[in-house]
Amino acid sequence: MPSHSPSPDGNPNTLSTPASRWLIVGGGVMGLQVATDLRDRGQHVTIAEAAPTMGGLTSAWNLGDVIWDRFYHVTLMSDTKIRDVLTRLGLESQMKWVETKTGFYAGGRLLSMSNTAEFLKFPPLSLIEKLRLGGTIFYASKIRNWRRLEKLSVEKWLRRWSGRGVFEKIWQPLLQAKLGEAYKQTSAAFIWAHTARMYKARRSGMKTEMFGYVPGGYAQILESWVGWLAGRDVTMKTSSPVKSVAPLESGELQVEFADGSREVYDNVVSTIASPFIAQSCPALSEQEKQQHRNIRYLGVVCASMLMDKPISEYYVTNITDTWVPLTAVIEMSTIVDPESQLGGKHLVYLPKYLPDDHEGLNESDEDYREKCLSTLEKMYDHFSRDQVVEFKIARAKYVAALATVDYSTRLPPIVTSVPGFYALNSAHIVKGNLNVNETITLGEEKLAEDVWPDYEQRVASGRVATKSSPCDQELVSSV
Ligand SMILES: Cc1cc2nc3c(=O)[nH]c(=O)nc-3n(C[C@H](O)[C@H](O)[C@H](O)COP(=O)(O)OP(=O)(O)OC[C@H]3O[C@@H](n4cnc5c(N)ncnc54)[C@H](O)[C@@H]3O)c2cc1C
Repeated sequence: MPSHSPSPDGNPNTLSTPASRWLIVGGGVMGLQVATDLRDRGQHVTIAEAAPTMGGLTSAWNLGDVIWDRFYHVTLMSDTKIRDVLTRLGLESQMKWVETKTGFYAGGRLLSMSNTAEFLKFPPLSLIEKLRLGGTIFYASKIRNWRRLEKLSVEKWLRRWSGRGVFEKIWQPLLQAKLGEAYKQTSAAFIWAHTARMYKARRSGMKTEMFGYVPGGYAQILESWVGWLAGRDVTMKTSSPVKSVAPLESGELQVEFADGSREVYDNVVSTIASPFIAQSCPALSEQEKQQHRNIRYLGVVCASMLMDKPISEYYVTNITDTWVPLTAVIEMSTIVDPESQLGGKHLVYLPKYLPDDHEGLNESDEDYREKCLSTLEKMYDHFSRDQVVEFKIARAKYVAALATVDYSTRLPPIVTSVPGFYALNSAHIVKGNLNVNETITLGEEKLAEDVWPDYEQRVASGRVATKSSPCDQELVSSV
């Protein structure tokens, strides 16, 4: 029989639930959160990550001597779930909180839009248009029934509330910069989620934004989290891409890795992107596989540029001029202290989001670099490429599932038709946009609401295999 492990969280329900072997596929923050929660429930947990380090999109790299996130990450004061994790890791008290400014590049000019007074002066819009834009943002922040918005296209909804002028001058260029032509299939829930998050970032109304980071960035968070899990006997396998998961007659699941080795688990939670889930578990029903394949993703090409001098005073510069081939300019060093964190340099990210099938995701490093530098030379009089000391490009094909019209009604199930195989990834975020807080909140909630009850049922009906310790794992074969 499965062993009955004491529960570290003191929850009497988990005391009575037997422990069995779980494999988490994917060591991004979703995988780490699910592993943490399963360990809290006394389970035997292994994480398999394809890359050489844990962290997925949050992982860091070297920019010369500086180690910082490959993709820009900030935490909001309202991100309570990640702040809870940081508290548990002893890092929350070290967080630095900084007021930020937002800029707009519109009509060839760089404009500040960081407070109500600047918003009211914003030249591209008439007073009526400003009121309609402000009203739309305020209204969106008050909406609770996101399911209604999911039925409408974002264009239709924004045209209705903001009017044609604001849509064409502001929303359309911003949507196009973020989503490309895919904005036409995107639902109003996308802008609702985005607005609600940004609204929360402001301490009240249109006042200043406060963003936070942990000194050392996500490299520090990941090191502490991985260390915390290792100290609780969670096994972590890096450079271990999972090739396939197949049910055995015994009710267990056989996992084959890319190097041909095989291991057997009682349960597998796959947190990887949906097209990979469809590919890695052939035993899923055709409908489930099709549901995973049908999810369209946004990918990103994102340059990290280390500079001698700052480029602007804005954390985000939104871009409404359509000739600019970037989604935004993100100046991380307006938040992260250059002296103590970035070797005295200034860090700027230059992202371009594109649909997952867009050829721009494969643009060569040389071409993307030249595009970025020549664009910055046109946008900023004071910018010169001599100020750039490091320039590196990161890409990710499957970043965020596109919130298309009626998206949540087409999602594949988390509890799948293959007993013990659970498909729980960030594509299941339906009432928020992609960020770490939303991702791990979803992981925690769906584990509690879907995965765990199904597991308990399988245990109660004697359908969970009986190997109880990760040490007992049977190495079926090694090719
Ligand atoms: C440009 C950018 C900016 C962002 N800015 C912010 C921000 O400011 N604030 C914020 O909170 N969030 C931000 N995010 C979002 C945040 O990074 C994500 O919400 C989060 O990292 C998603 O985690 P995940 O575990 O779901 O996915 P991932 O991080 O993609 O993890 C999936 C993991 O699965 C692994 N994998 C894939 N296939 C296999 C396989 N076959 N076997 C084993 N492993 C496999 C991958 O290597 C990866 O490590 C940003 C993201 C990007 C790209």
